[in-house]
Amino acid sequence: MSKAGDKQSKTPPQVRLMIGDCPLDEGSGGFHTHINPATGKPQAEIPLAGVTEIDQAVEAAERAFEIWRRVPGAERRDLLLRLAGLIRENAAEFGRLAALDCGIPVMVGGTFAPQIAAEWITYYAGWADKIEGQVVLSYPSDDFAYTLSEPYGVIGMITTWNGPLVSLGMKVPAALAAGNTVVIKPSEISPFVTQFFAELVERAGFPAGVVNMVPGGPAAGQRLVEHPAVQKVSFTGGPVTARKIMHSCAEALKPMVMELGGKACNLIFADADLDNAAEQAVYESLGVLSGQACAIPSRVAIEHSVYDEVVEKMASIASKLPVGDPFDPATLVGPLISEAAVKRVKGLVDEAASSGRMRLVMGGERCGGDLAGGYYMAPTLFADVDPQDPLAQGEIFGPVLTIHRFNNEEEAIAIANATPYGLGGYLHTSNIKRGHRVAAALKTGNVYINRARTLAAQVPFGGVGISGFGREGGRPGLEEFLRHKNIGLSQ
Ligand code: NAD
Repeated sequence: MSKAGDKQSKTPPQVRLMIGDCPLDEGSGGFHTHINPATGKPQAEIPLAGVTEIDQAVEAAERAFEIWRRVPGAERRDLLLRLAGLIRENAAEFGRLAALDCGIPVMVGGTFAPQIAAEWITYYAGWADKIEGQVVLSYPSDDFAYTLSEPYGVIGMITTWNGPLVSLGMKVPAALAAGNTVVIKPSEISPFVTQFFAELVERAGFPAGVVNMVPGGPAAGQRLVEHPAVQKVSFTGGPVTARKIMHSCAEALKPMVMELGGKACNLIFADADLDNAAEQAVYESLGVLSGQACAIPSRVAIEHSVYDEVVEKMASIASKLPVGDPFDPATLVGPLISEAAVKRVKGLVDEAASSGRMRLVMGGERCGGDLAGGYYMAPTLFADVDPQDPLAQGEIFGPVLTIHRFNNEEEAIAIANATPYGLGGYLHTSNIKRGHRVAAALKTGNVYINRARTLAAQVPFGGVGISGFGREGGRPGLEEFLRHKNIGLSQ
């Protein structure tokens, strides 16, 4: 069990495979040596599920489904509300665990992340007792039909490491509210937060087997996708894995939700509140999870008449970003996830800086001094970047921002739409007509005008293009976990 009173302890909890009511200390997938990204030092051996444990977890979820589907909606609602309450109460412990897991600063992992997860769970708790069907009359005949909104059964969920609690909050409560049971294969790279989530599910009083948490590697994920009793797959991760999962699902004609990567652009028009726009451009691109996030604007395009002014403002804000130990409450930019990640990002940055294709405004180096042992990269800004440049086309997954120039609205839209991704879109303008016009023209699943709130539970979140399909959030997120059965009746 995690030691909830032990908030600043840097000792990770022991991770178990949470299958039904029998947690396991080891699995047939062996062990993963977990490295603390802030220090570069090994800190735990994580047991990994193999095929055997995935099968056991799916069987536990199948058994639990027969109970859970009959639990009245009002009871499902109350259990979810209890879980949301426990997450709020234990926010600081989630912060500690996220810092150990993947170097997320406690400022983020102990505040925003639990708050978002608890909000999503509360929101879907509200749906649990409101799931209904339709009655359709075939006037003037005597026939009529009614529909039942039924859960699928066992849902296989595969998540990544970069926002473990938020990812669970976006997937799990919608599936449970709809009456499904779940087997979650979180990334073996972020096991501590997910383990604690599963502990709180148990503490909230959910029947055993409704939520099963089995950390594992790709082989475990593949088995979960292929297991014949898994009725639907909800995946968050990269497009390469998504393609493999889609191939497996195609064999079984199994439906999927795909939450994949992004390369969002933040359009700053000359009539915008430039201070607000520059601040968002820096904080969300470089600060949020050190650039390791799917929907953040990792590109910024600025109208030519204010280009130099905004670049200067951004550089000034970025130079003051607190980079450091994720346990320091003042830190906003923590380490990257691994040595491989920091080397990859540094390689991309070095190549771009020496190419003559763009201007390095600031950063570009790996952090030294006290941070040399961890995987820290300095916040980095490149200006005058061609929108087609490889640095502006693929996910970097580090605190690196490319800045582009546009002359008019048409060019701005073309730059924003110039990648195959389509998750987030951002724009800043004081002209509301332009705001709506540009928002409608962006080929993305989400658009935020003038720093609107992201990740609200009440609205759908998801991508187009290679950013995926299906939605989490709002009514559409609930619908992903329901199927509608039509029953026709002749009198
Ligand atoms: P990844 O695709 O490598 O791994 C994601 C998960 O898939 C992990 O749990 C992994 O173990 C599992 N996996 C790997 N191979 C598998 C296989 N063959 N079958 C089944 N499961 C398998 O992604 P990553 O590098 O860990 O995460 C980064 C990516 O996730 C980025 O592209 C990022 O943008 C994206 N992401 C998207 C969202 C979103 O909501 N759209 C949120 C966070 C991250």
